[in-house]
Amino acid sequence: MPAHNTTPARTVVIVGGGISGLATAYYLQHHARTLERPLDIYLVDASSRWGGVIHTVREKGFIVEGGPDSILSYKPAGIALWQSLGLTEDIVGTSREHAGSFIYSRGSLHPLPEGLTLMIPARLGPLFRTSLISWPGKVRAGLDLIWTRHPDGRDISVAEFVSTHLGREVFERIVEPLFAGIYGGDAQQLSVAATYPQLLEITRAHGSLLRGLLARRRHAPARDRTARWTPFVTLRHGLTQMIEALLPALKGVHLRAGTPVTQVRLRDRHAGTATGPWEVHLATGERLSAHAVILATPAHVSAQLIDAVDPDLAHTLDAIPYASTLTVSLAYPRDDVPHPLKGYGFVVPRVEGRALLACTWTSSKFPHRAPAGYALFRCFFGRAGADEVVSLPDKAILALATEELRAIMGITARPEHTWIFRWQRALPQYVIGHQDRLAHIQARLAEWPHLYLVGNAYSGVGIPDCIAAGHRVAEQLCPTRPE
Ligand SMILES: Cc1cc2nc3c(=O)[nH]c(=O)nc-3n(C[C@H](O)[C@H](O)[C@H](O)COP(=O)(O)OP(=O)(O)OC[C@H]3O[C@@H](n4cnc5c(N)ncnc54)[C@H](O)[C@@H]3O)c2cc1C
Repeated sequence: MPAHNTTPARTVVIVGGGISGLATAYYLQHHARTLERPLDIYLVDASSRWGGVIHTVREKGFIVEGGPDSILSYKPAGIALWQSLGLTEDIVGTSREHAGSFIYSRGSLHPLPEGLTLMIPARLGPLFRTSLISWPGKVRAGLDLIWTRHPDGRDISVAEFVSTHLGREVFERIVEPLFAGIYGGDAQQLSVAATYPQLLEITRAHGSLLRGLLARRRHAPARDRTARWTPFVTLRHGLTQMIEALLPALKGVHLRAGTPVTQVRLRDRHAGTATGPWEVHLATGERLSAHAVILATPAHVSAQLIDAVDPDLAHTLDAIPYASTLTVSLAYPRDDVPHPLKGYGFVVPRVEGRALLACTWTSSKFPHRAPAGYALFRCFFGRAGADEVVSLPDKAILALATEELRAIMGITARPEHTWIFRWQRALPQYVIGHQDRLAHIQARLAEWPHLYLVGNAYSGVGIPDCIAAGHRVAEQLCPTRPE
């Protein structure tokens, strides 16, 4: 801290060292330095491993992602953080040679129609040519071009929204599996306003989803084949590389891994004036006094931590539903896989009634992640409402995964290497009513001095969303721009 600044340091405790907490600490430290404001920052995590659900295993020449495997490059917060950490040279795009994905439907893999916008088929040619939809289904989708329906202000599900505009078949066979792939969720429950509000804006302006999307495409700049980044990008050594770069950059932050927080209390307001109004209780029995507390834990954990202070806030946080999910990666000698693997993988619609949610052909999407001569796959299990699979023993999970790959891709060989990662209650579900919950949470937070929430439960589940949220909280606490 600069010698001329005689203000005593204020303490900020950030609970949760997933990307939300780490990014918040990073930007908070940066802002405090820029403003020469003395801040004592603590980052406390229950686990001995930093990064939360970001977890790369490097083994036997493979780079295996247990949680997320890439980020969207057009959401600027992710790339901006990587650049600021000096990782620009290690940003890797998806293989352009294998571009394309598939949907498993009625016994075989069908190419995803080209021209998806906001996960909706937005080009008429590919929509009418796709083998995924029957002719009556295509005619039904096409009627959206002549009908006019404006949103009526109700918070409706993705299922109702898409079915109303494009018909049930387009929803079930194309849109549902894509949404499930991102949210691990049930599109009958997910709120369109909370997940893709742009879709509502489009229909508000045009009265038709297809007309609106076509207009949007007409006015969008042509896709630049020489664009620097592909839509999805990752890091050369896996996403954990971002965590490995962040930790040494948090030089001035007190890092406390393997230390669960048990509760957050408000001290007596009088007593709190010197050392801050908050007290953070650690499982070690230690108590940290703080001027500000930032909860970067899953909403159901934040609910427990804050329950004694604000039961109403805790109740609202706890009401945000979560899905559990699991990924299993399987490596086969390439010759054992009787499939061309020209694509990034496939998703499976719920109506197919299969356990498998999606499968990434990792060695095609990011070829550097498997040694030459191997095919690496990553299977997702755990549909919302049917996530018991996550608790099955390893043997049963491997049997399920190999059977799904046999049935869908004809792979009969046994995998040479396997990795299983379970994520219990890790994916928040932005269900109908989510926006109202957020408004209530905001109102409750306004009652408390310097209590903040960040994380994937509120306004975006993707890594760039979490980073942007951390940046916003840092800016709120330590504004670098005039208000
Ligand atoms: C399988 C999977 C695949 C995904 N794929 C992608 C993808 O490809 N791209 C993408 O952008 N996003 C993806 N996501 C979403 C994204 O990875 C997450 O939303 C994001 O990483 C969440 O970060 P977070 O810090 O908010 O939460 P978390 O990573 O869940 O971190 C929360 C932290 O809180 C800690 N904690 C919990 N309880 C306590 C306590 N009592 N005291 C102290 N600490 C505590 C935990 O140990 C953890 O470190 C995926 C998510 C999953 C699960």
